[in-house]
Amino acid sequence: MVVVGAGIIGLTTALALASTGRLAVTVVTRDTDATAADGARVFTSGGSGGFWMPFHCDPERLVRGWAAATLDVLIAEAQTPGTGVGVFPGVLLHPPPPAAVPPRPWWAALPDLHFASVGAGHPRVPRGYPGGYYFESAIADMDAYLPVLRGRLAAAGVRVVVVGADLQAGDAASLLTAARAAVAAAPAGGGGGSVGGGGAPPPPPPPPPAIVVNCSGLGSVALVGDDTLIPARGVTVVVEPTTPVSGFVSESPTGDGRELAYILNRGRGRLTVGGTYHEGDWSRTAPDAEVAALLDRAAAVVPAVAGAKRLRQWVGLRPVRAAGIRLEAEAVPSGKPGGAPAGTVVHNYGHGGGGGTVCWGCAADAVRLVEAAVAAGNAG
Ligand SMILES: Cc1cc2nc3c(=O)[nH]c(=O)nc-3n(C[C@H](O)[C@H](O)[C@H](O)COP(=O)(O)OP(=O)(O)OC[C@H]3O[C@@H](n4cnc5c(N)ncnc54)[C@H](O)[C@@H]3O)c2cc1C
Repeated sequence: MVVVGAGIIGLTTALALASTGRLAVTVVTRDTDATAADGARVFTSGGSGGFWMPFHCDPERLVRGWAAATLDVLIAEAQTPGTGVGVFPGVLLHPPPPAAVPPRPWWAALPDLHFASVGAGHPRVPRGYPGGYYFESAIADMDAYLPVLRGRLAAAGVRVVVVGADLQAGDAASLLTAARAAVAAAPAGGGGGSVGGGGAPPPPPPPPPAIVVNCSGLGSVALVGDDTLIPARGVTVVVEPTTPVSGFVSESPTGDGRELAYILNRGRGRLTVGGTYHEGDWSRTAPDAEVAALLDRAAAVVPAVAGAKRLRQWVGLRPVRAAGIRLEAEAVPSGKPGGAPAGTVVHNYGHGGGGGTVCWGCAADAVRLVEAAVAAGNAG
């Protein structure tokens, strides 16, 4: 079976599928963190803040379980050196009056977060803010975590096929065909193959199940013709402050929510500074004035940002979907009257501003959908 996409959703989904030990998996992708060039990424995951906090990520009734499951995994990852995942204290700031104090978010109830209301004067509340919500959360340094996940895939024998051009499709049926054809056309190697040991040649393997898991993020606008999926453009700057800054701090979105300040520990003495949220904006450039305004807002919250060395700036497009994340199986008809389906596409895309917050929970549900399709005979 084939997973399309090697962002945080594709990698975690492929790992969850491979870890069942029952499913042979190949990943097909245009980009990985190793191939995508900064500033020109179809690939949103590489520049993500990697911060566990549900943000523009729906529907809430499903996100509750996915986010909780992912937090558990990330906290466990933080125990292992080298994953790039850490657990940090921080604060979600209340806006200054006359703006109202934002309601406690639903996720405040998760015990691992140690969520608490704090007032002005708390050591984590910058001057000028009336207080905020203190909590402890996971942050994944995507520059480290994505390669770690790819390394685990290689160790599990999962091939990652990097195609030189976008797959072309427009619906589930054509995606099923295009993704499987890309695997068939790829030269063998890179994991997943068997090495001969002499003697009689092994029997040809059975044909792989006709299942494609669609983890193509914003690529699904074209790949499956989903015009309810739109970009929400965000700009971040990675900086290295001269004085260490621990944990994270974020303003609560107010007004139209398009501009806010957040400062996240990115590990290795660096910070991810954001941010913006511009729905419907496909631009991948960040004008100097926009970056300067973003850094000014952040420096007002954390003064160390002002003198920090700029390492890189980045524009990413969050895959936001009107109805929220699409995680469901779509059987592809055979085209013959009464015939069994030709295969199944399991969709796992549209994670908006929270792909890193729900990835492991969504991956577990994607595995259940794949296994159900196999059990139902919908795998070609
Ligand atoms: C500025 C910013 C900050 C963010 N911060 C956070 C945060 O702190 N915490 C959080 O949880 N989330 C955050 N997000 C959101 C998060 O980054 C996304 O939800 C997540 O990256 C989506 O992952 P994905 O794997 O679905 O998509 P992507 O990472 O975009 O991966 C899509 C994959 O599909 C492949 N693909 C697409 N189309 C094709 C095609 N036609 N042919 C072949 N391959 C194709 C691509 O090459 C790529 O490998 C942030 C986003 C932005 C923009």
